[in-house]
Amino acid sequence: MGITKTDFMRGMQCQKMLWLDKHKPRLKVIPPEVQERLDAGNDFGDRAMGMFGDYKEMTILRPGTNYPDTKAMAERTTEHIRLGTPVICEAAFIYYNNYCAVDILRKTEEGYDFYEVKNSPEVHEQYIKDCGFQNYILSRSKIDVGNIFVVTHGEDEDNPFVINDVTTEAKGLYKWVNDNIWNLNKMQKNPEEIQVEVGEQCCNPYECWYYGYCHK
Ligand code: SF4
Repeated sequence: MGITKTDFMRGMQCQKMLWLDKHKPRLKVIPPEVQERLDAGNDFGDRAMGMFGDYKEMTILRPGTNYPDTKAMAERTTEHIRLGTPVICEAAFIYYNNYCAVDILRKTEEGYDFYEVKNSPEVHEQYIKDCGFQNYILSRSKIDVGNIFVVTHGEDEDNPFVINDVTTEAKGLYKWVNDNIWNLNKMQKNPEEIQVEVGEQCCNPYECWYYGYCHK
């Protein structure tokens, strides 16, 4: 596998973090409150799938696991694009083994808009970078991307989905993604552990799950 959206975001925070994910994942320690936040984010994402009415979900798990079968998901997505399905959730794309699954892909007159769902009251810079990566993979996969949105969690629990347009900022990251994705691909395959001095990146923008390992 090449680089996923999560790999890219983690590798851009710290290359060693991505290298450890690939070679020594057992060293990671996920604090319980972070795990709770991730689980709550998944629940919010599941609810958001229906925000435009009927949809088709592309998720396929590898038998007996909770891991996505990325190839099967990408094939299912291609089939639904061919069929003209209006709303595709967890739409999966693979470009030279680099992978992303888009929370909500919505057909328009000209092509597709996509929506990244975040269980957060506001749009953070990381979310726009996340969308920048998705825009890169979709564009390289010959999807005509129109507008890009981050869906945040508003105060009205009956209708909590707030749509924020980040098209200009996310599309502006195309070159930045292209400049880094291939270096990260190469780095993650390095058999020798990457050496990175501990520093600000250990807590910014997220506290690193290898903090204890690197700071011991
Ligand atoms: S603790 Fe710091 S140096 Fe170690 S992998 Fe995480 S971010 Fe990188």
